[in-house]
Amino acid sequence: MALDSIEGSLKERGVRLTRQRQILLELIDKTGDHLDAERLFQLAKEKDPKLNRVTVYRTLKMLKLGGLVDELDLMHYGGDQHYYETRLKQEHAHVICLRCGKVEEFFGEPLQRLRKQIESHFGFQVLLARTEVGGYCSHCQTLRAREVEDIRALTAATAKPSKASGAKPPKAAAPKKRARRS
Ligand SMILES: [Zn+2]
Ligand SMILES: [Zn+2]
Repeated sequence: MALDSIEGSLKERGVRLTRQRQILLELIDKTGDHLDAERLFQLAKEKDPKLNRVTVYRTLKMLKLGGLVDELDLMHYGGDQHYYETRLKQEHAHVICLRCGKVEEFFGEPLQRLRKQIESHFGFQVLLARTEVGGYCSHCQTLRAREVEDIRALTAATAKPSKASGAKPPKAAAPKKRARRS
């Protein structure tokens, strides 16, 4: 859906696509990312320095109520933070790494199948579905395996100091790297 057709559907509902709404919609739509309100405020300010935080937060609420953006919590990885993404994307599941916060999107037929199964099983009319999967990305799995090994080596060394004296000293745990959410 192009922005002018969004404007049309908003007009039908008596909602005007004001300049700040347009700026935010374009930001959310173009990045295709999951940005929180604060980040959106920073980006919007670059486009229009007169925009203030209250307006941006209010506008996001408006866009959500108007069904143009989705508000996500992404398994509360970032605490109480909420993230916004365009409703114009095809339905997808969010796959969240609980260690580094990386977010992947899974599009596919299984989601549509699940929706249909729920509709026929419960005689339910599904309006929206949100699927979130939490776990560890392949990079973090490697790091975690190393950490577990290090902890084991450490506990073995402290539990039996006499036997461990000939063993190699445990490697220092790799520093945790907090990747930016993408
Ligand atoms: Zn990860
Ligand atoms: Zn998404």
